[in-house]
Amino acid sequence: MSEAVTQADKPPVVDNGPRDLFSKFDDTIRMRETLLASGVEDPFSLVMEKVLSPTRAICNGRDTILLGTYNYMGMTFDPDVIQAGKDALDNFGAGTTGSRVLNGTYQGHKECEQALMDFYAMDHAMVFSTGYQANLGIISTIAGKGDYVVLDIDSHASIWDGCAMGNAEIVPFKHNDIDAMEKRLRRIPEGAGKLVVLEGVYSMMGDVAPLKEMVAVAKKCGAMVLVDEAHSMGFIGEHGRGVAEEQGVIDDVDFIIGTFSKSVGTVGGFCVSNHPKFEIMRLVCRPYVFTASLPPSVVATAATSIRKLMHGSNKRAHLWENSRRLHGGLKELGFTLGTDSPQSAIVAVIMPDLERGAGMWEALLSEGLYVNLARPPATPANMTLLRCSLCAEHSEAQVETILGMFERAGKAVGII
Ligand code: PMP
Repeated sequence: MSEAVTQADKPPVVDNGPRDLFSKFDDTIRMRETLLASGVEDPFSLVMEKVLSPTRAICNGRDTILLGTYNYMGMTFDPDVIQAGKDALDNFGAGTTGSRVLNGTYQGHKECEQALMDFYAMDHAMVFSTGYQANLGIISTIAGKGDYVVLDIDSHASIWDGCAMGNAEIVPFKHNDIDAMEKRLRRIPEGAGKLVVLEGVYSMMGDVAPLKEMVAVAKKCGAMVLVDEAHSMGFIGEHGRGVAEEQGVIDDVDFIIGTFSKSVGTVGGFCVSNHPKFEIMRLVCRPYVFTASLPPSVVATAATSIRKLMHGSNKRAHLWENSRRLHGGLKELGFTLGTDSPQSAIVAVIMPDLERGAGMWEALLSEGLYVNLARPPATPANMTLLRCSLCAEHSEAQVETILGMFERAGKAVGII
């Protein structure tokens, strides 16, 4: 081979100093700049100037209906919840300044864990600082080297990150596909530890998992099952325990993960379980051990809220009415929705592309309605979605107002 050919095959050497570590974000920076250059308001930096209630806030100086929060049961302004937080601030101070395994376990953390055990009728409950950390900690700790995690491809980022942090083999399967899950499970070597990870409600499309069938298959294949019930706690199931309760399989689920940042109305995460060795997790789960515990006011609000959610059946019924009315009304108007029928408190409206999605989002905001604009990588199949999440505190009249806003904005943007 001649010298000339060898030189030509070599990539050109460009010496422009050390590589900027931020260059990997250039595509995202360009995407954002293109969107903002089209004149739309930045959908990812909205500021709530004042929050008036679980369903109303002042945004850009305007009274806005909130249809894009996870405040499903409207507990953020519950007077008992607020009072519990104030009392804890007075009696225990602003923060614990320590890990749960050192100086960071207060009476309030134990009361919060007891409230969870009572709520789920389970033997063990472990509170984390967020739901994200609960998934990160539990999955990465229980599924180690030589084990297998079989998970739905549409799983939440915290589940994927929990897998990435552990050393187990990761085996994804097609969303909600029972046969695909079974095939993956059957290919796992005999004797290996297996964890199936599912969600009750998938937060992007608002669809529910066929847990009854999936849990049965997982158990038949000798796998343990973890279900993230972040978007169903408080709302779905007779006692609000989630989709596993609704579908009658809660006793076969080994670990339920949840969060306080949705129906509970504050912040924090948890895992509940009946596993007899569960308490050892407090010593071996790094995202539990190596971080400060939740402030006393937060666990006090969470415990009070969880106990009130045990008696939330009227609110649950009203939230179902809201979900059915919004879903039916949007469908009638001609919008394309994420599910054929209402399955949860989330109604996803599918947009043709990001530009029109952002245009529609802005048109709704100027009507006085806030929804979530969701885009890849958070969404499945590269979709742009306007995600509507309902609250038990939305009145019937508010839902009708919301439908009128969608009709006007949809026509103005040319989506319907
Ligand atoms: N799991 C799911 C399914 C979620 O949607 C979320 C948050 N959106 C979490 C876990 C994390 O919860 P947190 O906000 O408490 O970190």
